[in-house]
Amino acid sequence: MTHQHRYKTILLFGAPGSGKGTQGKILGAIPGFFHSSTGDIFRSLDLQSPTGRTVWEFVSKGKLVPDGLTINIWKQYLQGMELINQFHSETEIIVLDGLPRNVEQAKILEDTLDVLKVIHLVADQAKMVERLRRRALKENRVDDATDQVISRRFDVYQKETKPVLEYYPEEKVVTIDAAQSQMRVLSEIIGVLVPLKEMHDGH
Ligand code: ADP
Repeated sequence: MTHQHRYKTILLFGAPGSGKGTQGKILGAIPGFFHSSTGDIFRSLDLQSPTGRTVWEFVSKGKLVPDGLTINIWKQYLQGMELINQFHSETEIIVLDGLPRNVEQAKILEDTLDVLKVIHLVADQAKMVERLRRRALKENRVDDATDQVISRRFDVYQKETKPVLEYYPEEKVVTIDAAQSQMRVLSEIIGVLVPLKEMHDGH
């Protein structure tokens, strides 16, 4: 990919437990969209490899993986997906979940991503913590295993990730109440994506 051609992208944005992953997976099943989650990519790395181990050190403590490493892994993943024909950068819109997670990452990605919209999923912290605790039991996630790590993840979100919202122009940010039912949240996101997709396809 050359930099004259930036990936058309929708950012899924929200605190841990706000439902980005759940919604992202569904949106990625719609023709013309490709879901990519840095958290999922990190969890799929081989723990025996040096990279996998380094990433695990950060993830398991609830800390952000260093910016350069995060972006390298993500770019490699995406190029791999393009090579095996799972992702078509010319025609598909990326639903990006978990990236950028701080302002520095947003800056580094400026010439890689063409951000069309930022979908900000908002719910109160108690509700999100409750979801994370449930998910920890179901999915065996190290980063949600203890209240201490969960609380670190919320601190990181407030201090490092939230400022990313101000990085993008206000008119691109759409706020959606993530405490609603999953179907309603999905329906509101789709409501935002329909005109965008039609414009993209020249309808
Ligand atoms: P959640 O959606 O619950 O916040 P994710 O699956 O998105 O969880 O992320 C899990 C963990 O992976 C994060 O807590 C962080 O350690 C790491 N991570 C994910 N994305 C990034 C990123 N863009 N930069 C640095 N670390 C990341």
